[in-house]
Amino acid sequence: MDKNWKIETLAVQAGYEPKNGDPRIVPIVQSTTYKYDDAQSVADLFDLKSPGFFYTRLANPTVDCFEKKMAALEGGVAAVAVAAGQTANTLAILNVCPAGHHVISSAALYGGTVTLFTERFKRMGVDVTLVPPESTVEEILAAARPETRCIFAETLTNPSLTVTNFEVFSAAAKKLGVPLIVDNTFPSPFLCNPFRFGADIVTHSATKYIDGHATSVGGVIVEKGDFNWKNGKFPEFTEPDKSYHGLIYTDTFPQAPFSVKLRVQWIRDLGVPMMPFNAFLSNMGLETLHIRMERHSENAFKLAQHLEKHPKVAWVNYPFLASSPQRPLAEKYLRAGSGVLCFGVKGGKAAGEIVMNSLKLAAIVVHVSDVRTGVLHPASMTHRQLSEEELAAAGVSPDLIRVTVGIENIDDIIADFDQALAKVN
Ligand SMILES: *Cc1c(COP(=O)(O)O)cnc(C)c1O
Repeated sequence: MDKNWKIETLAVQAGYEPKNGDPRIVPIVQSTTYKYDDAQSVADLFDLKSPGFFYTRLANPTVDCFEKKMAALEGGVAAVAVAAGQTANTLAILNVCPAGHHVISSAALYGGTVTLFTERFKRMGVDVTLVPPESTVEEILAAARPETRCIFAETLTNPSLTVTNFEVFSAAAKKLGVPLIVDNTFPSPFLCNPFRFGADIVTHSATKYIDGHATSVGGVIVEKGDFNWKNGKFPEFTEPDKSYHGLIYTDTFPQAPFSVKLRVQWIRDLGVPMMPFNAFLSNMGLETLHIRMERHSENAFKLAQHLEKHPKVAWVNYPFLASSPQRPLAEKYLRAGSGVLCFGVKGGKAAGEIVMNSLKLAAIVVHVSDVRTGVLHPASMTHRQLSEEELAAAGVSPDLIRVTVGIENIDDIIADFDQALAKVN
């Protein structure tokens, strides 16, 4: 891999360098185990003294290629692939935030992340304070406690499409000496690299644009590599780990202590790796990421502009619309607006339901970010576990319809929404 390659070339080529006579395509290593000639080789692997594969719960050659490509695309030093996007956010946080500690997060979040934070983490002894996405540095710092161990936000939030103000959130994280963890699912690595704007750890639901075809559930966590874990707040990184004969992560793995610790403690003990076949499909998805993201973004922008002019549409939210209050931040941080837009129909939830039920090309799906156009009503679907206040904090109004705009011909997509809107009186 040439380190000067641009992101489009990395999307196609990074992560796998076949040698003379090797398969040209990343092979699917559908094997749980690996053969060794002597016991000492295996003992050294277990002690993390030599790199290599010994059990697919910890690492697998196909998954390794996908991880290397993700690290290259985000500009990080290492990546760890896991079972789902939920796993990625859960482990990225638990890796730095043991029980009894505290997280500050932007309140504009994916519904699954809200319940993870407000229910599951709470029962595990990790407290999360949600702050409004438009908070100032001082307001974020006002939520801090001595036990705060990370700040969390989504680059472009699902589904409210708020663009996180990286300058503000990263300044607060720096002030506290804690990592800024960013869920970069919606832009994908092609439209935004949060490391350039102060993030320390990036997570993705690979289920979305990375796979891109709605075939595999997966997640990935990427480490930037220059966070100072030795600032006194992270003894789990700097003190001996009994479960590895007293290994100290920052000493033995100074380049990527976060990723090594996450893999050998959390994935080993919880058993939540990405599976080789999913890594194969996700890697293949990445090969066309740049082309898909351009078309998703172009189609979504055109549909947003069209809906905004439609007499039966009450409002449209898409970060690059001239009418969007998010536009200055979107232009600062994003290459394009990605493929998701939200809108409300005049007549509210009932009228919106007529439109959703009348669509033909666009299907009702609990998914975003694959090549096919789809719609979803978050208040009654993905976010239905949330209270009214939580819905408002997450930016979900009762009439909000989320559209995941695919890469079909835009005229066909627009015609489908027009015929469905014509069904509303
Ligand atoms: C879908 C999604 C997740 C959860 O990912 P899964 O792969 O479904 O577990 C997390 N964050 C965001 C922003 C998402 O869109």
